[in-house]
Amino acid sequence: MTMRYDLLAHRILERAAVQFPRKQIITRVGEGVHRYTYADLFVRTARLGNALRELGIGAGDRVGTFAWNNYRHLEAYFAPPTIGAVVHTINIRLAPDDMAYIINHAGDKVLLIDPDLVPLIAAIADRLTTVRHFVILGEPEAAAATLPGAISYEAMLAGAAPEYRPAPVDEYTTMGLCYTSATTGLPKAVAYSHRAVYLHSMASAAVDVLALSERDRVMAIVPMFHANCWGLPYTSTLVGADQIFPGTRPDPRVICELVANEGVTFSAGVPTIWIGVLDYLQRSGVEYDLSSLRQIISGGSALPLAVLQAYRDRLGVEMIHAYGMTEAAPLISVNRRRSWLDDRSEAERLNLRAKQGVIAPGIEMQLVDENGAIIDWDGEQRGELWFRGPWVADEYVNDERSGETFSDGWYHSGDIAAIDADGYIQIVDRVKDMVKSGGEWISSVDLESAIMAHPDVLEAAVIAIPHPQWQERPLACVVPRSATSTPLTRDLILDFIQPNFARWWLPDDVVFIDEIPKTSVGKFDKKALRERFESHR
Ligand code: ADP
Repeated sequence: MTMRYDLLAHRILERAAVQFPRKQIITRVGEGVHRYTYADLFVRTARLGNALRELGIGAGDRVGTFAWNNYRHLEAYFAPPTIGAVVHTINIRLAPDDMAYIINHAGDKVLLIDPDLVPLIAAIADRLTTVRHFVILGEPEAAAATLPGAISYEAMLAGAAPEYRPAPVDEYTTMGLCYTSATTGLPKAVAYSHRAVYLHSMASAAVDVLALSERDRVMAIVPMFHANCWGLPYTSTLVGADQIFPGTRPDPRVICELVANEGVTFSAGVPTIWIGVLDYLQRSGVEYDLSSLRQIISGGSALPLAVLQAYRDRLGVEMIHAYGMTEAAPLISVNRRRSWLDDRSEAERLNLRAKQGVIAPGIEMQLVDENGAIIDWDGEQRGELWFRGPWVADEYVNDERSGETFSDGWYHSGDIAAIDADGYIQIVDRVKDMVKSGGEWISSVDLESAIMAHPDVLEAAVIAIPHPQWQERPLACVVPRSATSTPLTRDLILDFIQPNFARWWLPDDVVFIDEIPKTSVGKFDKKALRERFESHR
């Protein structure tokens, strides 16, 4: 037999401290940057672990983080797991009620809060029943009087012992907690084991998956509170890549500057981020040297082909489509071209890249119809995707709703897809976003993607609106580009997409709006749109 060697999250950091002590961690602060090394990260993480122990944190206790992407947040990704506790990354954009709910539901004992976010916590502080300490992620002066008894993070670290003393835990111990951003109902908690995060990092780094290397300079735009930051802080540390954190409220200008100044090679975020960056580049006319960018991972919602093409043609940057969810830590699939598809035509290869890709090693999937029967992978038939694997959840923590989503040993994703004979997933829609017209299903994603290919369209979301005869019909909500010369009209949009669809798929109407509302993680908020246009005829 092989030796027993538990796969522990902090072993990822131990490796970086030994193998890559001089590699860098860079955080944008104001108009400048803060820099330190993995050696520094290791010592500060040890101090944070000891400081948390001093605050009474031990095995199984929850430590909440309420912060932007920065180096202190990275320290908090590692320190609680190191001492046998759990890091709970709290979404800073949730509604106050949801925020209070998840902090109480998690039972967070300590909250680590970025200084500028303190007012959001102060507003709900009297409803937090389990929190014993508020720690402000900054110098003593940042521990403002807005939260009585708040502790300064830097003062706390300075006073803590520097010895690294990992707790004896086994690999199935919980080390992380993340809530789904609940588009309907209360957020649901997903717990990650040490083993899950370790294996997720190993698989993510692989060449046919994210292809992350020690040579990379990784900048995650996806927030550290969204689905584990797609695992990137752990995976980057495992491989020893430099990490660049965009800090407080990153906007397209900051993203472009960081890429140009720091030589970012790898970045990741939801499509709306990349649409925003492209729009900024076009409107501002500023020229940035983005040539260091080797690949951009786009995930979280469907990537319109037009965006992928624009990055390739105008910026010379490869955009890679990935798919996953909070329940899967989150990586399920990445779009890498299998060798036997190399001889496909240019057009076929482009279409392939719009798909959500092939599953990472370790993940298993099934396509299942409404009756639970397994569907063939022929690229045509559609069904719900079910997953299982070493980093897929088997329940929502303390939640009666678990049974609806986890059964028969599989996670039922609620995503409708087709899988082609080569194993490529193509997401058709979320079950709840599909348009049910006269007993047939219309994919909102396909319509949106086609509309966003129009050069004068910035963003488009398609929603179902109630219809007396057909039950539901599609309505397109379109944001025109600011600089368009010819005003967009309903007929222009419908004529543009009409060749791609059967007549009954075409939206009944097109409304032009200033902005598509976004969810707390930057996806199109279709629930908000449905409410707004409920009575549209
Ligand atoms: P939330 O549920 O809060 O939006 P998640 O990131 O966990 O946060 O959402 C996961 C869901 O997002 C998936 O189940 C799927 O519906 C959608 N999704 C993720 N990546 C993609 C993608 N590349 N294409 C289409 N949909 C995606």
